[in-house]
Amino acid sequence: MQSEFQELKTRLIEINDIQSAAGLLYWDQSTYMPPGGAAARGRQSATLRRLAHEKFTDPTIGKLLDTLQSYQENLDYDSDEAGLLRVTRRHYERAIKIPSDFLAEVTTHTSESYQVWTEARPANDFDSVRPYLEKTLEYSRQSANFFPGYDHIADPLIEPRDYGMKAADVSQVFAELREALVPIASAITSQTPADDSCLHKNYPEDKQLAFGMKVAEKFGYDLNRGRQDMTHHPFMTKFSLGDVRITTRAKEDSLGEAMFCTMHETGHALYEQGINMEYEGTPLARGTSAGVHESQSRLWENIVGRSRGFWNCFYPRLQEFFPEQLGAVSVDTFHRAINKVERSLIRTEADEVTYNLHVMLRFDFELALLEGEMEIKDLPNAWRERFEADFGIVPPDDRDGVLQDVHWYFGLIGGSFQGYTLGNILGAQFFSKALETHSEITDDIEKGEFGTLHNWLKENVYQHGSKFTAPEIIERATGQAMTITPYIDYLRRKYGELYDLN
Ligand code: ZN
Repeated sequence: MQSEFQELKTRLIEINDIQSAAGLLYWDQSTYMPPGGAAARGRQSATLRRLAHEKFTDPTIGKLLDTLQSYQENLDYDSDEAGLLRVTRRHYERAIKIPSDFLAEVTTHTSESYQVWTEARPANDFDSVRPYLEKTLEYSRQSANFFPGYDHIADPLIEPRDYGMKAADVSQVFAELREALVPIASAITSQTPADDSCLHKNYPEDKQLAFGMKVAEKFGYDLNRGRQDMTHHPFMTKFSLGDVRITTRAKEDSLGEAMFCTMHETGHALYEQGINMEYEGTPLARGTSAGVHESQSRLWENIVGRSRGFWNCFYPRLQEFFPEQLGAVSVDTFHRAINKVERSLIRTEADEVTYNLHVMLRFDFELALLEGEMEIKDLPNAWRERFEADFGIVPPDDRDGVLQDVHWYFGLIGGSFQGYTLGNILGAQFFSKALETHSEITDDIEKGEFGTLHNWLKENVYQHGSKFTAPEIIERATGQAMTITPYIDYLRRKYGELYDLN
């Protein structure tokens, strides 16, 4: 069996090499590539992705998995070998159900749709992108129907990103969260918003980036295995466990932009850098789900990076970077500014209290569209109505309404948003467990030391990569299933100090 196992692993690593090359092409496209490279780059990426898909769905992989079935049954569930066979089998069963012609068709369609969207959004022209979105919805339904036997049509679309969660589970957690969250959000937004003018002076970009990287290194980001570059829509990407990169963007009139982007992407990078090196090149060498991944970006960006303890230590250093801009601004004022809560139109710019309401709106709409309860043509109006009900404000146009997020215009409808809110919930759950085990973490943060927290996360979450599913990781790390209690407690405690919540 050892030789079959080795052969499977060799093939998986080869497929991973192709995927990593495609990842590098994407990174280059999003950072340094001149615009003239776009057409050829699209073709090159598609070629590599097709190659990887063909190699992975080759019947030889299936035969190797079948041969190794009995070997797998005798392995300890927790062993790396068992994990690799489990995860490979799961990905394989999924991949062979999607015809490659269909994949190619969807890829071509979504890149056209994306092109149209890039012009439709600034022009506030939903009608031009509507037929594309209608086609996307058809493809999304078709894609789900390659997996008959689901409870909800969204389940097969949620699965590749948040395996182990179904539409019904997400809806239930979201309903609980909504009930707890809406009163907190209303209590805060009915008060005078924090004054954040201190963040909107002139902040030279190079200094912003230097400060951000100082924080990233302090968090534990290993620059021997990482680097940061500039882009339009920041992301983290990995070509190997020895090369985990982040990207950011900066605005000279907005201090928060680059700093919190860097902290956010650093959280994602810490997860990938923390994976067991033995998993290099295999399907185990990546974060286990969108929700758990986002829990790490949110934990480092919000729970640590927007905390009072963190700034008690780092604010004097930030003032040294920007003496003219911040010399006369107190840490109190600064802390309130970076935690300003307001009813706003744009999801990606929303604060940590109202953010989840943006996500829930999109998740509910995805379900309604897939179920056939809502039609694409109804989206702009439905968006305005729901937004008014949830936020008390109406988007003045579709540009800042239904056209704002790239997801539906560059991919399928279904499964693309829930991970963000699951991440907020899970970030708090992991953090509170780490704190319960190591109460010194609070003092450490005030001293600018993050080793104990980082090590706890590495041991309980990061090192396992995809070996365990998200529900397994949550249970193992925190001793219970996903719960919103730590997140709501965290919000009440933190915002209770900043605002009157009674
Ligand atoms: Zn993220």
